[in-house]
Amino acid sequence: MRPLPDISQLIAGIRASDRASLAQAITLVESRAVKHRASARELMQAILPFTGGALRVGLTGTPGAGKSTFIEALGMMLCQQGKKVAVLAVDPSSSRTGGSILGDKTRMEDLSRHEHAFIRPSPSGASLGGVAARTREALLLCEAAGYDVVLVETVGVGQSETAVRTMTDFFLLLQIAGAGDELQGIKKGVIELADAIVVNKADGDNKVRAQLAKVEYTKVLHFLHPFTPGWKPKAMTCSALHSEGIEKVWNLIECFRDQLTETGVFNTRRSEQNVDWFDSLLKSAVMDRFAAKHGARMEQMAAAVRDGSLPVSVALDQLLDT
Ligand code: GDP
Repeated sequence: MRPLPDISQLIAGIRASDRASLAQAITLVESRAVKHRASARELMQAILPFTGGALRVGLTGTPGAGKSTFIEALGMMLCQQGKKVAVLAVDPSSSRTGGSILGDKTRMEDLSRHEHAFIRPSPSGASLGGVAARTREALLLCEAAGYDVVLVETVGVGQSETAVRTMTDFFLLLQIAGAGDELQGIKKGVIELADAIVVNKADGDNKVRAQLAKVEYTKVLHFLHPFTPGWKPKAMTCSALHSEGIEKVWNLIECFRDQLTETGVFNTRRSEQNVDWFDSLLKSAVMDRFAAKHGARMEQMAAAVRDGSLPVSVALDQLLDT
């Protein structure tokens, strides 16, 4: 990491919506170096009053469903309306390749060149928790830089959908019409998190199948308990490639925001998300400190539990009594 600019300069840059400053600020909060932590905290504290202004949209779907094509189409439409769009990713697997697929500029080529857009690849990190925490801070920085919409994409590995759900207002599941069995290949749990299921690639020969898939999803959604109180999740179709149906999807997202703002659910959920975030950071910090102090004893107890020489509850008591 290059030497850091002065924090007040960085804040001024962010507030002036300078993309280079925003990128540098995100690099700072992503840094795990101890010497950067105090500056990162100072930065987050300073920008906090300027956060909260964006509509936070989560997006997931299996690889090949058309997520990047969809983000490009939606992002370009919004930019053309004069809105500013940031795209972030939660992709814990990116640590293996040293960069997320989102970092590949050939994806979302037009959007990445648009002056109103900001695209940031997933931070690398071994744990989903670490990646998610840094993405959350990046999201807040984007808001402080005046972005109207923040799209958080995940490739849907492991628990990453749940992580993205907990940092966004609206959660969209992008699907394609399968060979007959519409529930094939997707975890049912992900459907339960969705505020909308959008069947992509509804074009050409695939149009009819996509419509049928939409009908199937509508039925499935009907029987599920909605994730967002007071909102009935909807199924729709679109063609990201031909930019068809994208506006309808966006109208739905805006309708969601308006309706839920009116009922108070929108802000209540954001507050709850903050508390959950605090809880999870607290848990991992306490755990880290405990492990740093009592790592050897933890291993001893784990070994005793493994070979059956101590019952789990006794091992736990002995460990906590140390
Ligand atoms: P991702 O892995 O979910 O990000 O998917 P991509 O956006 O990379 O798309 C995967 C492939 O599907 C690419 O070849 C796209 O051109 C194609 N694709 C994406 N959206 C559509 C669509 O609406 N219609 C058609 N026919 N192809 C699409």
